[in-house]
Amino acid sequence: MIRTSEPIAPWKPSNVTLVGDAIHTMTPGRGVGANTALRDARLLTRKLVAASRRELSLLDAVGRYETTMTSYAWDAVIKSRAQMDGHSVMHRGDLIGTLARTGMRAAMRTMNHLPPVKRKIALAESSFRGAGREHED
Ligand SMILES: Cc1cc2nc3c(=O)[nH]c(=O)nc-3n(C[C@H](O)[C@H](O)[C@H](O)COP(=O)(O)OP(=O)(O)OC[C@H]3O[C@@H](n4cnc5c(N)ncnc54)[C@H](O)[C@@H]3O)c2cc1C
Repeated sequence: MIRTSEPIAPWKPSNVTLVGDAIHTMTPGRGVGANTALRDARLLTRKLVAASRRELSLLDAVGRYETTMTSYAWDAVIKSRAQMDGHSVMHRGDLIGTLARTGMRAAMRTMNHLPPVKRKIALAESSFRGAGREHED
């Protein structure tokens, strides 16, 4: 049985492939599920265009897409799970969980009012969401 949020072993490419949550469902931990789905779409499109120009066979195009996609997608799945695995203090229903969530909200609101800190965080967050990766894959 394949569990969601669990990287799976490589498979033989065929004329059927998967993009987005259908292949790499992940926790909301890093907020990169849609980014990763869009990256898949761009990569697969490029490979299919190459196949249509006869630069690659269809199976090579799909296989190359799947090899590259699984490398970055499994990384995202594992990191998003590490950041939010359901056992974190944020998910606790007791006083400690309430205090943790309240502290987190207060910290985020404070950062939102400090432009230099806000800029720094936005920069750090956008780096793992794909900023500067336009010409990769
Ligand atoms: C609350 C929440 C917050 C999120 N926040 C972020 C975020 O901040 N940043 C981020 O990057 N990601 C975020 N995500 C994840 C992101 O929404 C998903 O990773 C992304 O939508 C996956 O896109 P997808 O196209 O693979 O799948 P989906 O968006 O699920 O699209 C699949 C589509 O297929 C349709 N469908 C299903 N079965 C059939 C069928 N049999 N026939 C025809 N159509 C069918 C569905 O109706 C749906 O429209 C969030 C997700 C949730 C739930």
